[in-house]
Amino acid sequence: MERTLVLIKPDGVKRRLVGRIFQRFEEKGLRIAALKLMNVSRPMAEEHYSVHRDKPFFRSLVDYITSGPVVAAVLEGSNAIAVVRKMCGATDGSKAEPGTIRGDFSMGIEKNIIHASDSHEAYEHEYRIFFRDEEILNYECGDEHIIY
Ligand code: ATP
Ligand code: MG
Repeated sequence: MERTLVLIKPDGVKRRLVGRIFQRFEEKGLRIAALKLMNVSRPMAEEHYSVHRDKPFFRSLVDYITSGPVVAAVLEGSNAIAVVRKMCGATDGSKAEPGTIRGDFSMGIEKNIIHASDSHEAYEHEYRIFFRDEEILNYECGDEHIIY
């Protein structure tokens, strides 16, 4: 099983989309291993998006991610990183495919509702910013033998 870090960004929380988005992940067969509503400090946002430090949109991106609470989660499942990225859709909501989270709920390239890790290395970097190891729980849903 693979883990991935998801953030419902402040626009997703303020637009009350948290339940609908997590419903999609649960219906798909991903397991919620960790979950919290939290404010993100500027140092946390800068660390999370450190690969974009030199991009022209970096400051605006940090302003956006710190503009209200996020819902942070660790989701687990077979091939979870690629599966969740596919469910999120393209970065620019105006270009993302219908049926994806960004395609259905976002019109923007910046305010695009959700973040998901894009690699195992990214997950390892990101999850520590939001969770302590003991907050990531191991348990079985019991239907894994049907889903997989
Ligand atoms: P995320 O990392 O949030 O999952 P992503 O991997 O699809 O998104 P990245 O290229 O990593 O896209 O960009 C990180 C975030 O920066 C985007 O989700 C978006 O909020 C913002 N962003 C990306 N490109 C632009 C841009 N050209 N102008 C403004 N904001 C941008
Ligand atoms: Mg990214």
